[in-house]
Amino acid sequence: MEKVVAGIDIGGTNTRIGLVNKEGKVLVDSNIATDKYPQVDDYISAIYNSIEILTKNPDLPSVELVGIGIGAPNANYHTGSIEKAVNLPWQDVPLADSLGKRYPNINIKVTNDANAVAIAEMVYGNARKLKDFVVITLGTGLGSGIVANGELIYGHDGLAGEVGHITAVPNGRHCNCGRCGCLETYVSAPGIKRTVFELLATQTIGSSLRNASFNDLTAKDIHAAALNGDHIALKAFEITGEILGRALADVVAFSSPAAIFIFGGLAEAKEMILQPAKDSMEKYLINCFKNKVAILPSALGNKDAGIVGGASLIWKDYSIA
Ligand SMILES: [Zn+2]
Repeated sequence: MEKVVAGIDIGGTNTRIGLVNKEGKVLVDSNIATDKYPQVDDYISAIYNSIEILTKNPDLPSVELVGIGIGAPNANYHTGSIEKAVNLPWQDVPLADSLGKRYPNINIKVTNDANAVAIAEMVYGNARKLKDFVVITLGTGLGSGIVANGELIYGHDGLAGEVGHITAVPNGRHCNCGRCGCLETYVSAPGIKRTVFELLATQTIGSSLRNASFNDLTAKDIHAAALNGDHIALKAFEITGEILGRALADVVAFSSPAAIFIFGGLAEAKEMILQPAKDSMEKYLINCFKNKVAILPSALGNKDAGIVGGASLIWKDYSIA
């Protein structure tokens, strides 16, 4: 009987659930609409039903469920709960407690989505031989997972690693957290879009992005324009990388990583964002760290990283046991 872990990736729109084997392969997966469950109990029941259906999938050889690992926004590792979420239908979700009643003998672990990606990078990705590294996830926000001495840093409250909300620009852009100037208001998919529109407003140079509306423009469009040599798009990536690198110099100062891995949609622009980030980080690093810390793309594919990330929370310790 093959041992599997249910890896769960909770997002504001979709919740993806997959059975993952010890090698990190997703054997089978399904999807439920997060926003279709106004009652949190119904949502937990839907997750339970999905796991039951997946484990009984007739196309699979018989499997033994050995754990459930969940990556979710605002998830607290210590309490196993989502706390004060802003992009979900419910503020607080006691995931580990509620699922634990249905699976009393199964190990259930919960952490925020960026931490789950960091653990997956450590178990299956480019950080396999590293004990000290940082993963930055670039999507609708900027997430981070910081690993030191081989352990993910959860912190006193279980919520450590909010690099997206360090102040990049004092009194800068408004952030969803209610404050101003946070790093993710500049370095994220919406952040680079805001930069493009600032450039369009202050420069007269021609650009294919001038015809785009703010609501319709995506980071993918900006990337495509940059590949075509669009100066505004290229400048936006340069500015985004520069601000990221400056913040990473501070992250290096307190965590001394061997490498920093960049994951997510914006990272697909590769050197277009990584090179200015590297140049800027080196410029702002204190001398003892200069030319020592690599900035690299993540090895994880975007599609299944959330599911594999959740599952790796369990497999990481299972391999040690
Ligand atoms: Zn913020």
